[in-house]
Amino acid sequence: GDWLGLLGGGQLGRMFCMAAQSLGFRVCVLDPGADSPAGAVADRHLCAGYEDPQALAELGRLCRAVTTEFENVPASALDLLAAGMVVSPAGASVAVAQDRIVEKAFVRDCGTPVAPYAEIRSAADLRAADPGLFPGILKAARLGYDGKGQARVADVHEALAAFDRFGGVPCVLERRLDLAMEVSVVVARGFDGLQLAYPVSENVHRDGILALSTVPARVSQDVAWRATDAALKIAQAMDYVGVLCVEFFVLSDGSLVVNEMAPRPHNSGHYSIDACVSSQFEQQARVMAGLPLGSVRQLAPAVMINLLGDIWFEDAQARTPREPDWAAVLRHPQAKLHLYGKTEARRGRKMGHVTVLGDSLDEAMSVAIQIERQLGITG
Ligand code: ATP
Ligand code: MG
Ligand code: MG
Repeated sequence: GDWLGLLGGGQLGRMFCMAAQSLGFRVCVLDPGADSPAGAVADRHLCAGYEDPQALAELGRLCRAVTTEFENVPASALDLLAAGMVVSPAGASVAVAQDRIVEKAFVRDCGTPVAPYAEIRSAADLRAADPGLFPGILKAARLGYDGKGQARVADVHEALAAFDRFGGVPCVLERRLDLAMEVSVVVARGFDGLQLAYPVSENVHRDGILALSTVPARVSQDVAWRATDAALKIAQAMDYVGVLCVEFFVLSDGSLVVNEMAPRPHNSGHYSIDACVSSQFEQQARVMAGLPLGSVRQLAPAVMINLLGDIWFEDAQARTPREPDWAAVLRHPQAKLHLYGKTEARRGRKMGHVTVLGDSLDEAMSVAIQIERQLGITG
């Protein structure tokens, strides 16, 4: 079969590999980690840095198309590869999503509101910031994920201290909004400009990390339609090629605010592996190969539970991890277990997920709650 290339070796890459392999492709992963989740299932693993010229040349020789599984891959590496092969998403799209300052301006220009914010490049910017932005969140413009590189700040003094802790890197200061709900929309868009949006996902975060996704989101038709429309507009405005996720805040009056986007399949779309005709990872492979998109139709209501490393530890004092009781999960016939093959369990680390399917969302939710209890996941 043909070869597809992947920059990055995490769980998103692992699930991409598996989906691409199901379609008959072979996958070559470029990742510096010797025992990465994706490297372990790839047909070929180039163990080198993302900017390693030799590895990039080898990837280019082997593959007809390349994609990325995390947003912090150097956009320059994508641009370099683009000279000789199909790259999706384009370096320019990834560059927008890599930088919160660029991203927010872009989203706003697409006509969708973002949280009130200020660009912070210096302590002086902070001192001059609108006091209405407090209480706020200071977010490093680049390289954050799972709530890392963020600080909740009550006032300008706390913000200055946080800015200092971050080493004075460019940041955005955002007003902390009262969230009624968080939702996300995953869009798949092909080279031909045809695009499809998955059902809206309702997301619960704990400590800045996604904990639970419920699909379809329990929002009005109107909210679902506006979120979907905004996500499609953003994808179109970027001339995006590949899989894109847009995260939204729903405010108490039903208005929508874009939080951020991810230029790749997203954790809140993992349910699509088990619940949809075509998963978000399958779409990523289809787009790269220039194949038609698959159906995004959801076949059953679904609740996805993230499995963080915390449940590998008996209690807060425990030092050595042990394997959770998977049999207790699998005793529920509607539960699908996905483990990412990470060798070391650490607190806060994404180790796997469970998708619970149901005849109704209520049924899926009640089983999901039982599973959370059995695994010792606390909300
Ligand atoms: P991800 O892993 O999704 O990439 P991240 O580190 O990029 O996370 P954000 O998505 O910016 O972080 O924020 C993480 C979570 O923090 C949000 O999902 C939301 O729960 C909360 N949060 C972020 N910004 C705000 C805000 N302005 N007001 C209220 N809550 C917020
Ligand atoms: Mg993010
Ligand atoms: Mg986020």
